[in-house]
Amino acid sequence: MVKIKRQINDKLIEICEKGFPNEVCGVLIGKKNKEIFIIDDYYICENLNKERSIDRYELNPIDYIKAEDRAKKSNASIIGIYHSHPNHPAIASETDKMFAWPDMAYLIYSIYDGKLKNLISWQIDESEDVFAQINTELIDE
Ligand SMILES: [Zn+2]
Repeated sequence: MVKIKRQINDKLIEICEKGFPNEVCGVLIGKKNKEIFIIDDYYICENLNKERSIDRYELNPIDYIKAEDRAKKSNASIIGIYHSHPNHPAIASETDKMFAWPDMAYLIYSIYDGKLKNLISWQIDESEDVFAQINTELIDE
């Protein structure tokens, strides 16, 4: 399950809406406690896939390294990736599944015509070799 600070989620929605019609992406920073991903920060990464920025994303590795540094400073780590699906449901694609790493949460924000439709979180379930939906809970401080 994913627990994400409400203010961080609000920010991510804003970023995904502003990025429309392109697919935007970045990393999620926080701590993992057993099976719970606790997200309290994020870092925007450039989408290197310019040709298919409508439906593909590729994190800029330089941004990823910067995000790791930022996480370390607050004793946290990168525990997930967010990206948007412009005019497309928040369902993970085959490509999303193929490139997903275990032990990471994948948050997909579905944006239709520049407005959030919904958010669905995903995680690789290694025992069943599937990309499974996991619950998302907003936390208030
Ligand atoms: Zn996707």
